[in-house]
Amino acid sequence: AVKFTIDGLKATVEGKEILKGVNLEIKGGEVHAVMGPNGTGKSTLASTLMGHPKYEVTGGSVTLDGQDVLEMEVDERARAGMFLAMQYPSEISGVTNSDFLRSAINARREEGDEISLIKFIRQMEGKMKELEMNPEFAHRYLNEGFSGGEKKRNEILQMMMLDPRLVILDEVDSGLDIDALRIVANGVNSMRSEERGFLIITHYQRLLSYIKPDYVHVMMQGRIVKSGGPELAERLEKDGYDWVKEELGIVD
Ligand code: ADP
Ligand code: MG
Ligand code: MG
Repeated sequence: AVKFTIDGLKATVEGKEILKGVNLEIKGGEVHAVMGPNGTGKSTLASTLMGHPKYEVTGGSVTLDGQDVLEMEVDERARAGMFLAMQYPSEISGVTNSDFLRSAINARREEGDEISLIKFIRQMEGKMKELEMNPEFAHRYLNEGFSGGEKKRNEILQMMMLDPRLVILDEVDSGLDIDALRIVANGVNSMRSEERGFLIITHYQRLLSYIKPDYVHVMMQGRIVKSGGPELAERLEKDGYDWVKEELGIVD
């Protein structure tokens, strides 16, 4: 069973402390949503968990099934089953989407156990169909010239193909129209299982009416300051964040 534990995580960017002691535990089968105002460190949390070199961990621990994540290189984290869909996916010219995906899958497998081309293509075509993606996207350069919505769908395609144990989605809903949002949410929902945990970062409640979270956390000033169930997201949508600040005596 999956168990992902963040304990007292602190991180700095360019010498400035952004994460000030984040605690969170995600088990297989659970969907956790992290919400919060802009600039509170949500993307920093996602990037730090994935080992982005810009973010320096200055305290705390992160473990996946008891393994020390902070000791792992970025590719080791991916091999351990961590997956991040980013707020702004990068474009890679000269590498096709399908080449990128196949090397990402094979990077997580033992030598000699690479996925066969036929099997890979069959899987990819199936998933692309589910995501209502035009088949030509397999052969386009990674994210190059993709619209915002196409990039997001492509991130979900990667998630589905890589079969991760811990999925982190950072504002995967931003810039999506309602049809694309529904498709992305269906993709995520189809991946929900006991074998996998989800950390869904979102600024808006909208996504959470399609992907029902088990837990909702509010992040402010680099910490998770409040946790609850789906009703917390609804209250935040209705009333904003001021009441949380008042309740907890947080001053900007
Ligand atoms: P959120 O995702 O909650 O909107 P971020 O994690 O993106 O917030 O940012 C939190 C704070 O960290 C902001 O003040 C932001 O300017 C700063 N920050 C994040 N990443 C960087 C970076 N690469 N370089 C400089 N400052 C950064
Ligand atoms: Mg932001
Ligand atoms: Mg962000």
